[in-house]
Amino acid sequence: MPTDDVLNTLIIGSGPAGLTAAIYAARANLKPVVLGGATPGGQLTKTSEVENFPGFRKGINGPDLMMEMLEQVKFCGGQIVYESAEAVDLKTRPFSVRASDGATLKTHTLILATGAAPRWLGLPGETQYSPPKGMGVSSCAVCDGSFYRNKPVAVVGGGDSAMEEATYLAKLCSSVTLIHRREGFRAAKIMLERARANPIIRWELNQVVDEILGDPKGKPIPTVTGLRLKHVATGATKELQVAALFAAIGHVPTTGILYGQVEMDEQRYIKVNDRQETSVPGVYAAGDCHDRRYRQAVTAAGMGCKAALEVERYMTLHRLA
Ligand code: NAP
Repeated sequence: MPTDDVLNTLIIGSGPAGLTAAIYAARANLKPVVLGGATPGGQLTKTSEVENFPGFRKGINGPDLMMEMLEQVKFCGGQIVYESAEAVDLKTRPFSVRASDGATLKTHTLILATGAAPRWLGLPGETQYSPPKGMGVSSCAVCDGSFYRNKPVAVVGGGDSAMEEATYLAKLCSSVTLIHRREGFRAAKIMLERARANPIIRWELNQVVDEILGDPKGKPIPTVTGLRLKHVATGATKELQVAALFAAIGHVPTTGILYGQVEMDEQRYIKVNDRQETSVPGVYAAGDCHDRRYRQAVTAAGMGCKAALEVERYMTLHRLA
């Protein structure tokens, strides 16, 4: 861990935004350090096939894409630290960041690429049934889908994530019921049509999950046995027997440690200007921690690039490098 000197730039986060920023900063000889967390790579390490990242005509596996980016950072001279950021002080300069191993890093500039985390339904039992403590609630089909091989499962949501999760699970599970609270979908047409054409996927529209059924104190571990669904218009309820519920209802920005340090909007997305600059000069944000609109790997990478170019400009302007 590089704790002695003041860094030129520290990047928090190791998804496409953070790693692209690191590649650009390393090539500008800024010797960037990435606080990448214990398992770097961000949300794409939890997806299967990525079909829309330019350069991969036949698609690329999400974890493989991130592994390539990590190797590219190292090849360019960037350093990846396998710790998370636990506290940030942007009120004094140089900025300081406390890492999960207790070390404090000092830096002239900071790129926030902390990403987003899955949103949960907020139902009782959701936590108890999540692996490894329990069985039957997940937000990641690639991570947990194989636990439910040849069993019926359900996916909640109407966006691209829900279509992707349902299509992936249809390869493993005996049936996949897609539960969505209305009849219109946010998902891209191509992803919706692919799911619609899959005979394993069933559809429960205008329905919400009212209750997760099972024994939250069950032995050896709490296990889901089904769901109670409620029709949004009539309020009529019915039971669905499934071994698992996969929540695919969007994400919330991972900005908790930055609260009170940089300006955020009402949903805690970091505010930036068109140069990725936050309310604190010298601090930039890129990717899903500030982008509520596009949230694509390629747009996150583009913002990471912009942030690193702006860091380079800032360092020159302030005669720091
Ligand atoms: P999203 O587009 O925000 O969709 C979330 C879905 O969950 C919506 O259909 C929403 O319903 C539903 N929902 C939200 N809160 C709910 C609740 N409390 N109860 C029931 N349903 C709820 O999120 P996403 O699908 O995760 O996609 C996020 C971004 O990632 C998008 O930009 C997407 O294009 C991108 N993405 C891309 C790919 C790909 O290209 N391969 C894959 C995954 C994600 P309403 O529609 O009624 O609001």
